[in-house]
Amino acid sequence: MGLFGTSGLRGLVNADLTPSLAVRVGMALGTFIRTGKVLVARDTRASGLMLENALVSGLMACGIATYCFGVLPTPVLAYLTVKLRANGGLMVTASHNPPQYNGIKIFDMDGMAYDEERQGKLEKIIDGGDFRLADWQNLGTVEYGDESQLYVDMVLKNITLGKKWRIVVDPGCGATSHIAPKIFKKLGCEVKAVNSQPDGFFPCRSPEPNAESLKPLSKIVRGLQADVGVAYDGDGDRAAFIDEKGAFVDFDRVLAAYAAHVLKRSGGGTVVTNVEASMCLEKMVEPLGGKVVRTRVGDVYVAEAVKKFGSVFGGEPCGAWIHPKHHYCPDGILSSVLLLRALEDEGKSLSEFVADAPSYPIVRKNIHCRNEVKHLAVKRAEDLLKRAFLDYKQISTVDGVRLSLMDGWVLVRASGTEPLIRLTVEGESLKTAKAIMDRALAAVKRALEDLEK
Ligand code: MG
Repeated sequence: MGLFGTSGLRGLVNADLTPSLAVRVGMALGTFIRTGKVLVARDTRASGLMLENALVSGLMACGIATYCFGVLPTPVLAYLTVKLRANGGLMVTASHNPPQYNGIKIFDMDGMAYDEERQGKLEKIIDGGDFRLADWQNLGTVEYGDESQLYVDMVLKNITLGKKWRIVVDPGCGATSHIAPKIFKKLGCEVKAVNSQPDGFFPCRSPEPNAESLKPLSKIVRGLQADVGVAYDGDGDRAAFIDEKGAFVDFDRVLAAYAAHVLKRSGGGTVVTNVEASMCLEKMVEPLGGKVVRTRVGDVYVAEAVKKFGSVFGGEPCGAWIHPKHHYCPDGILSSVLLLRALEDEGKSLSEFVADAPSYPIVRKNIHCRNEVKHLAVKRAEDLLKRAFLDYKQISTVDGVRLSLMDGWVLVRASGTEPLIRLTVEGESLKTAKAIMDRALAAVKRALEDLEK
């Protein structure tokens, strides 16, 4: 398996991801970009500073001018990379993963995360040890500073709120701890911040915001009778919401409702999501003359498609939304501010806004399959699935096999890390979803039997 995955480099600290590896990543990036300046930031993880120092050391060894901004959300670092015309941005983060993990995400001068091709080039430099080191008179430099105000100014310049929203902000002790409550206050909201003390052990809740980890936030929103609750993941590229009744807002439905809002305002266009998102997106977007493009799972692929198709909006149902008018990195803070703006424009509460998007049952099943053959098995299942669903409307193989049907869809893909084939089905009703699952399951099992013969 390669060093880099779809979200950059990620691993257990001092097991997979050591300072010596970080030095080599720094030297590889310095070798790759040859000259110029690189910005570095980190989320709140305990290992962040250790890895940052190692990266800086590697960059300096290659003569790169390095600027360290301390703890910042990933989208802020990506934004600053473009704004300050840096040649690259390095973010030390493991996003929503538990505290013992960390990672390195690399952005280019356009604020786009490095794709597989460029990560592959870095990996080759690391594997070969082909570092282009500067001579001793020309080592790089390091400066420490705080340029986050540039991002705050960008938000305040582009978005204004008319209503004094009563909002509970939950950064989960992550990278948005200071900046998110600050922005909402500047926008004139009445802000209650919880879990807003930066702490790399994430003592308050999991850095992954979901219905389970946000139960305490739901209670607080209800108790304070706030208008909305918003929570971010560890590095602030994802946002999750609690409505005015204290209910966790379904990721798929709020994504679809917000996409529809953007389309109404832009008068049509393309919206990008991944193969796993609910069909409620099509149901909301297509009647407005919009088109949905689906990519592989991973914000890098969504961002690439947003750029390629000139889309008006892109997002994944984990709460990572891309607002191409501002930049191409998923941005939790922008998402939450823009959602409030949308509620104002439509004169709706959050629960009313989301109620417009239909809710469909999703059924999931995993089948055990050896790692060596799981991808082949999914490929073999394609024909059998097509035969099992002769009336399918559309097929996509960007990530496994996904068939759109009249009354739902089915996705069959190999797990990235485990010896499993994952089946996901969505149907107009639970009965339909179960019926689709039964037929799909039979097809995948047939494919496996054929393989093992
Ligand atoms: Mg994240």
